Amino acid sequence: MSVRTPSGSALDPGHVTDDAIRSTMTNCSRGEAHRMRVPEWVHGSDPVHGVVGWRDPKSPERGWMLVPLGEAVVGLALRATPGKGVRTTAMCDLCRTTRAPGEVSLFVAARAGEAGRKLNTVGTYVCSDLACADNVRVLRPTPTLKPDPGLSISEREAALRERAAAFAEKVLASR
Ligand SMILES: [Zn+2]
Repeated sequence: MSVRTPSGSALDPGHVTDDAIRSTMTNCSRGEAHRMRVPEWVHGSDPVHGVVGWRDPKSPERGWMLVPLGEAVVGLALRATPGKGVRTTAMCDLCRTTRAPGEVSLFVAARAGEAGRKLNTVGTYVCSDLACADNVRVLRPTPTLKPDPGLSISEREAALRERAAAFAEKVLASR
């Protein structure tokens, strides 16, 4: 199943183009979207059915996330607060994985539209690597990575999608 992005181009799971990714972005300027760096693996990912997130390899404070929302995919530009992340053991708000000190960071997203231009933001604590989709698939907890206990992997994946969608809706709410 492919979905249409706001600009009308198609986003196909497994064949995700840079143009399709850029056209899903809701809360950054065209210039910022243009400067986005997309790691190769993202092109083969499936943002229609699961959350896809990555840190920008060229711009360390930048992060990007593609979130399935209804029949669409919403692209979010995120900025990590400077520094090494939360100094204590902390839980990711999106995937509920408990991470070692420094492995969860506060990310802020500008609100979409006029509110974002007025520097209005939404913040949330997320795995510093933005690899929540991989982190919920960990079978055995490690000292640095403890997924939500008592849930199957598919339950964790569904819960991650739900929380990421709720976050995306907050970013879009003020449009
Ligand atoms: Zn996470």
